[in-house]
Amino acid sequence: MTDKQVAMVIDLNKCIGCQACTAACKSLWTDEPGQEHMLWNNVETKPGPGYPRYWEDNGGGWNEERTALKPGKLAPREDFGGEQPLNFEEVYFEGTADRLQQKEPMGKGANWDEDTSTGDYPNNYHFYLPRLCNHCTKPACLEACPVRAIYKREEDGIVLVDQDKCQGFRECNKACPYDKVYFNYVQGKSQKCIFCFPRMEEGVAPACARQCPGRLRFVGFLEDADGPIDKLVNQWKVALPLHPEFGTEPNVFYVPPMLPPKFDEDGNFAGDDDPRVPMEYLESLFGPAVHQSLITMHEEMEKKQEGKASELMDLLIAKEWKSLFNIPDVRVA
Ligand code: SF4
Ligand code: SF4
Repeated sequence: MTDKQVAMVIDLNKCIGCQACTAACKSLWTDEPGQEHMLWNNVETKPGPGYPRYWEDNGGGWNEERTALKPGKLAPREDFGGEQPLNFEEVYFEGTADRLQQKEPMGKGANWDEDTSTGDYPNNYHFYLPRLCNHCTKPACLEACPVRAIYKREEDGIVLVDQDKCQGFRECNKACPYDKVYFNYVQGKSQKCIFCFPRMEEGVAPACARQCPGRLRFVGFLEDADGPIDKLVNQWKVALPLHPEFGTEPNVFYVPPMLPPKFDEDGNFAGDDDPRVPMEYLESLFGPAVHQSLITMHEEMEKKQEGKASELMDLLIAKEWKSLFNIPDVRVA
């Protein structure tokens, strides 16, 4: 148990897949040799293989009784996608080409299948899923480390890899069912999201949350009664962990996507009983609680549409950016 636990709520109904969060994290924390393939924060298109590709099939996490770790596989290097070098030299310096293009045939990038829908037109669908380390309450990565290089901070529950202790055994890489520990192939160390702790300690929200133009990430502490996290997770119960069956008790929560209703054969909206994203798929991501979460969301949205008050919708709309963050001494930064 930690004194407090940082947490994030991500509203999937507002994510436009712009990758501003990915770029903010990448440029701040992972621009060194050996980190090229690392996106501590990524945004993937769902349904889809994600990043690293097919991470959901790599195992890891806890058994059903939560007493032992389940075996996990290492995602191969190529599943993180490769760099896509462009012919800058030829265009800008040598004058031997007049348009930018990739030097080599297209390889797989981190989100190479971005925006690829599932299902048949006009009822095809996709949505964006931003992902980062969940700073889990029961971190499988920590449990798996043979040299105790991974620790969970007492004061805020942030899970970190001690770079001096890590010996590159990669057991954490296998154990994390979200594939959110990365291996630095140059340094021979495991590295991961640090929940921007140097920023948090200064009262500044994590870069991925602060840079989000859609204002869809709420940051705070689980224990803060009446903070945005408490309201969305515990009071309204609309924000849910991803793959709760993995057993790590994630502290990143998602408001599930609603998407517009389907069209019927005559081209009219078919109504909410037959949602565009199949409920079985949403349940496979967020567990059975997704049913009640979506019922609540629809009810509150209708209230707002009828001109009635809805605390939940006002909270999710977040007209004032500071309302997203419940961090002590939050700064305008
Ligand atoms: S998401 Fe993975 S890396 Fe992060 S704390 Fe949980 S088990 Fe560890
Ligand atoms: S919290 Fe910070 S380190 Fe973690 S994914 Fe977001 S920007 Fe990256």
